[in-house]
Amino acid sequence: MNVGVLALQGAFAEMEAYWRMRGAEVFEIRQAADLERGIDLLALPGGESTVQGRLLKKLGLFEPLKRRIDAGLPVFATCAGLILLAERIENDDAVWFASLPVTVKRNAYGRQLGSFTTRGDFDGKHDFPMTFIRAPAITDLLSPDIEVLSTFDGAPTSVRWRNITAFTWHPELNATA
Ligand code: GLN
Repeated sequence: MNVGVLALQGAFAEMEAYWRMRGAEVFEIRQAADLERGIDLLALPGGESTVQGRLLKKLGLFEPLKRRIDAGLPVFATCAGLILLAERIENDDAVWFASLPVTVKRNAYGRQLGSFTTRGDFDGKHDFPMTFIRAPAITDLLSPDIEVLSTFDGAPTSVRWRNITAFTWHPELNATA
């Protein structure tokens, strides 16, 4: 499997290591020419969604990636990547790909609880480690077809919808668990 990791900003190295460990061929997406390679899955890493979104547009990556995502390219997104995919961002004027019917709230856990690790059920697995880093929250599901894979304090923290799997936390950081 060829995994293209968006490598403009943020925690793309961790995302690359995660997919290599899972046996994938990994390449970095930094410019439009990188999209000429065969890509089976797009991985959107954590980082700063505003910076990533602006760079996507500046580098001419935004439109071609949105077309592919909306046409069904499998996507695996964490944190800032989820924010880039969300149809609505409740505390931001920006909206980026708008390909995933959820509302998110950026930096939802405040300064005190900005980053933390907890354990819980994820996709049928128990006691799964979940690391949150200045994480967003999913505050609304805008389609009845969304599958919730994990929750924290009653709110969804990872979801699957059609070709997209997205996390508010960082599965790539606890990959050996
Ligand atoms: N707080 C970041 C944002 O709003 C996301 C944090 C992360 O990706 N770890 O873009």
